[in-house]
Amino acid sequence: MNHEPPFQASEFVSRISAFPWRRLVDEVHVHHTWKPSRSGWSGRRTIRAIEQFHKEQRGFLAIAQHLTIDPNGLLWTGRDWNTPPASAVGHNGNSRRGPFMFEMVGDFDAGRDLLDGPQLAAALIVCRVVCDKFLLEPLEAVLFHRDLGAPKTCPGSGVDREAFVAAVAALAP
Ligand SMILES: [Zn+2]
Repeated sequence: MNHEPPFQASEFVSRISAFPWRRLVDEVHVHHTWKPSRSGWSGRRTIRAIEQFHKEQRGFLAIAQHLTIDPNGLLWTGRDWNTPPASAVGHNGNSRRGPFMFEMVGDFDAGRDLLDGPQLAAALIVCRVVCDKFLLEPLEAVLFHRDLGAPKTCPGSGVDREAFVAAVAALAP
């Protein structure tokens, strides 16, 4: 169980620099939680519920994602960054190379929550910082769950990948 306090997106660059990487990150995988939606967010209790669900219902060894971005744009660390995520079957890499995975708390299917404000800003920063750290091209490396072979809308049918990735690329490094 992770008891670390959440941190600001502006701290992510120093976190990722200071981390003792033993794994080469080659993609960034973007997810939404779907459940809970933004209104269901209740801080650490939600993080614990997600972790418990992943371990007990899905049979994962730890929470699936490396990072969770809450509706206020705060970042919560999840699975050890040196371990492969449980992002999408066949796309999780191995102990030496693979994706960095994050989940945004919300249901971003069309007509539900709108991905905007500090949460969107944090998601763009996370993508940009991971791409810069591992010398990745956002256009190729930032992937949505729905593009990884699963019959899903994740991270939400209301989120346009082209616009999202363009916004990542437009961020100052
Ligand atoms: Zn997903």
